[in-house]
Amino acid sequence: MAKRDYYEILGVSKGASESEIKKAYRQLAIKFHPDKNPDDPSAEDKFKEAAEAYEVLSDPEKKARYDQFGHAGMGGGGGYGGGGMNMDDIFSNFGDIFGQAFGGGGGRGGSRRMKGSNLRIKVKLNLEEIAFGVTKKIKVFKMVNANDVTYDTCGTCKGSGQIRRVQQTILGAMQTATTCHTCNGSGKSIKSKPKDADANGQKREEEVIEINIPAGVGEGMTLNMAGKGNAGPFGGVPGDLLVQVEEEEHPLLKRDGVNLYHDLYINFADAALGASIEVPLVKGKAQIKIEPGTHSGKILRLKGKGLPEVNGYGHGDLLININVWTPQKLNSEEKEILEKLRSAEHFQPAPGSKDKSFFHRVREMFS
Ligand SMILES: [Zn+2]
Repeated sequence: MAKRDYYEILGVSKGASESEIKKAYRQLAIKFHPDKNPDDPSAEDKFKEAAEAYEVLSDPEKKARYDQFGHAGMGGGGGYGGGGMNMDDIFSNFGDIFGQAFGGGGGRGGSRRMKGSNLRIKVKLNLEEIAFGVTKKIKVFKMVNANDVTYDTCGTCKGSGQIRRVQQTILGAMQTATTCHTCNGSGKSIKSKPKDADANGQKREEEVIEINIPAGVGEGMTLNMAGKGNAGPFGGVPGDLLVQVEEEEHPLLKRDGVNLYHDLYINFADAALGASIEVPLVKGKAQIKIEPGTHSGKILRLKGKGLPEVNGYGHGDLLININVWTPQKLNSEEKEILEKLRSAEHFQPAPGSKDKSFFHRVREMFS
């Protein structure tokens, strides 16, 4: 199923300000809040969809990535797709946005689930992997909840995760609630744990993670894999895995956005007489036709032989820049032939109106 555009979900324009985005989300969250729509099962999906859109558009870094790459930039088509964002995430992340509408606590009281930290890794890709997309298996070291950890109820907060205090004021008794500092709001303490587990009952373990990298990614782009980071302590929700893309340089093809460039050197005879010459593609090779009388600096465009746009719409081109090779060393026989040609009629430069200047060629490239 195609994912809906985040701006469309929130009903805001691309230029919407932070406060407009927040306001739009707040209205939708209140409208589709599951507690307000107990008879409508689609409300929860809409509630989650709005939260996902807000999660991205309220974060400048994620928003910039989404604006540039669309859904593909949010984790290889994965992200929170398929309702991966759970209700606990939504309330722990954006509970404050509900304000007083649901009793100030987001409507779901009790202990808070702790979120695991994000894990960052880098992955190096060659041009072929970038052009076609690739599934990579990567070894990561991440925090997991150790086996054989047993828990007790936190003695400080008695499992509620919050410390409630009643103060007498001139207005009467006022109750305040703060997160329990002993358990950080989880409501639990560790009763027993294996020796190699840390104070949160966690240990570092190696795991092989499969990462689907969409075609068209580029140097420095970060893919977000929700829930693939470090485990949340005390049964909390896991953090995200952030995969940063590094690009390996190709020996023959240079990249500029979705277009690729290749410097082709042809000999003088091929340039004068015409020829069929092989050029490299991202995968395999192609034969191109050199017309008789081809000048140095002519650019041939192989349509669609560049890279795909990461959002899946459109494809770049491969531009072949032709250079006519001037011999650097000559034997006596070669010199003799060229001496004869030096003053020959058709060897005298005579640029006509058809021969475009450097300036015109460059301008054409960008038009
Ligand atoms: Zn506690």
